[in-house]
Amino acid sequence: MQRESSRRGAPVLSVESAIGKGSFAILIFTALSARTRDETTIKAGRRLLSRAPTPQKLARLTIPQIQKLIYPVGFYKTKARHLHALSLAVIRDFGGKVPSSFESLISLPGVGMKTANIVLATVFGKDMIGVDTHVQRISNRLGWVKTKSPEKTSAILNKIIPSKCKRKLNMSMVAFGQAVCTPLRPLCSECPLEKVCPKIGVASRR
Ligand code: SF4
Repeated sequence: MQRESSRRGAPVLSVESAIGKGSFAILIFTALSARTRDETTIKAGRRLLSRAPTPQKLARLTIPQIQKLIYPVGFYKTKARHLHALSLAVIRDFGGKVPSSFESLISLPGVGMKTANIVLATVFGKDMIGVDTHVQRISNRLGWVKTKSPEKTSAILNKIIPSKCKRKLNMSMVAFGQAVCTPLRPLCSECPLEKVCPKIGVASRR
């Protein structure tokens, strides 16, 4: 998956060079990314982080200012409210540093299980799997899981995926989902997994 998506230049692979490796930047980017195309998230994240690269600076912006900076990401009004509250909570409860435990992360406004796991894996190098729409879809197509909920998928993947692969799984599957195993008409004819994939639920393919 990694090889094929990097050969095809999947958009998510440019995220790190676009926003850097900082824990606050990755938390903000991941929180912004829900239901939004990566290209849009990258541009919005850059605009926001260039104005407010720290929780203190983000807390000083008004919610309408944040809305304007992150528009047109999906649910930008709600996300602007959450991001403002999140920056205040990081300052108040965690001394201005992104916390490194699952419980602390999900206590932050707008941060759910997926975001928490992605931050733990990407920033803190923990063996966690963030299940987003790409991981959910591809795991079902490959027959690794047969579930409709990310929570159930997460529980199963945590059991069957070797620890050493967990940290990179989200990024690999997001990239693969953008470049090859797309939501509609996946590129099965050119997929390196074609021979071993049962293509469960794939109605139409290229
Ligand atoms: S063969 Fe098709 S459905 Fe299976 S992983 Fe590849 S692109 Fe996805």
